[in-house]
Amino acid sequence: MLDSTLQATYDQVLRRNPGEPEFQQAVREVFESLEAIQDRHPEYQDHSILMRLCEPERQIIFRVPWVDDQGSVQINRGYRVEYNSALGPYKGGLRFHPSVNVGIVKFLGFEQIFKNSLTGLPIGGGKGGSDFDPHGRSDGEVMRFCQSFMTELHRHMGEYTDVPAGDIGVGAREIGYLFGQYKRLTNRYEAGVLTGKGLDWGGSLVRKEATGYGAAIFADEMLKARGSSVDGRRVAVSGSGNVALYAIEKVAQLGGIPVTASDSSGYVVDENGIDLALLQQIKEVERGRIHEYAERRGGGARFVNGGSVWDVPVDIALPGATQNELDIEAARTLVKNGVLAVSEGANMPCTPEAVSVFRAADVAFGPGKAANAGGVATSALEMQQNASRDAWSFEHTEQRLTEIMRGIHARCLETADEVGRPGDYVVGANVAGFRKVADAMIA
Ligand code: GLU
Repeated sequence: MLDSTLQATYDQVLRRNPGEPEFQQAVREVFESLEAIQDRHPEYQDHSILMRLCEPERQIIFRVPWVDDQGSVQINRGYRVEYNSALGPYKGGLRFHPSVNVGIVKFLGFEQIFKNSLTGLPIGGGKGGSDFDPHGRSDGEVMRFCQSFMTELHRHMGEYTDVPAGDIGVGAREIGYLFGQYKRLTNRYEAGVLTGKGLDWGGSLVRKEATGYGAAIFADEMLKARGSSVDGRRVAVSGSGNVALYAIEKVAQLGGIPVTASDSSGYVVDENGIDLALLQQIKEVERGRIHEYAERRGGGARFVNGGSVWDVPVDIALPGATQNELDIEAARTLVKNGVLAVSEGANMPCTPEAVSVFRAADVAFGPGKAANAGGVATSALEMQQNASRDAWSFEHTEQRLTEIMRGIHARCLETADEVGRPGDYVVGANVAGFRKVADAMIA
């Protein structure tokens, strides 16, 4: 239950945004956390901060026509939600996936505001994408789609305006096609207008690894706060994209044993620890399916068709696939199997009911806007390098990322303590992220 002021605002949000369940879910979670500070900040109410915050500053929806390999014209829909620029230029990824609609983009953009605030870096919140499905499309088709997408989007972007990056379905290949078209349309080598670029043309070392590394580091920090660590722990990771691959790598570096990975066809369990090089070869290079991992790895590794990766008994869960992938049943199974920590590598992968189960069982739970902030934080480091025409070493950039993740963890814990909810990373992340944005809006 929300208190009456928050409930009234939430009711307005529901009325104004019908048919957008993920967006409503993301707003509700933040509002529930803000209850902890309702009484202390009358100024937020006086300035209608909540309603202002829920309404994006600008929403752009556009047609993306492109020609497929058969010569037929295809039509997709493009989106960019420029949500909040109180702290800096709009910053956030582009998602290319058939499930993308305005509600999904708004949920992601809303989360991004608080996430970006938590990093401590000067970036506002935004998100975009398309219902285009890159799977099964040739390089030429993906290129023509990206060029058409950028033909409209470029007029809304700029290194001081809006700086997109990748998300699901958008990696270095897509960023390359998008950047090429931006450059052609504007006649500017404006490197800081997109992040996640290739290393030869303005990208940052560690950006590719950053989200996954950060989520593993966040799990380690949460366990350290409880007198233990990732070292020696069994870890379940879902997904096999950018987030999952590099969460697996960092878990292993921290002494943990990553035992799973998944895609939409099922999951693999490897009791000896996932062989990252093999998984990378299949997923990054060949763009293949996860079952090939079990076939090529041999002894010890098995493929499970369908089912849930969360059935595998582990100490730590790192959901790294997509929203609402870990439901109440999965949470109960994980708790029954003795899970100690859950660190969200994806955006909102745990349902609200699942989070309640973790809370009740005193599992250390790191919400995505804190745990997966390493990706966007490293994007901001890429922007810094572009602005100073510099390129940092891997060691230096990784050191910065680690410091940022530790800083976010500490800020969440301190804030949770301060508002009387010790150990609650959800409340800590939401309140700390919110306050900075709200204060900037009032200022
Ligand atoms: N898509 C990532 C996220 O959810 C990264 C965004 C960025 O680097 O701008 O935070």
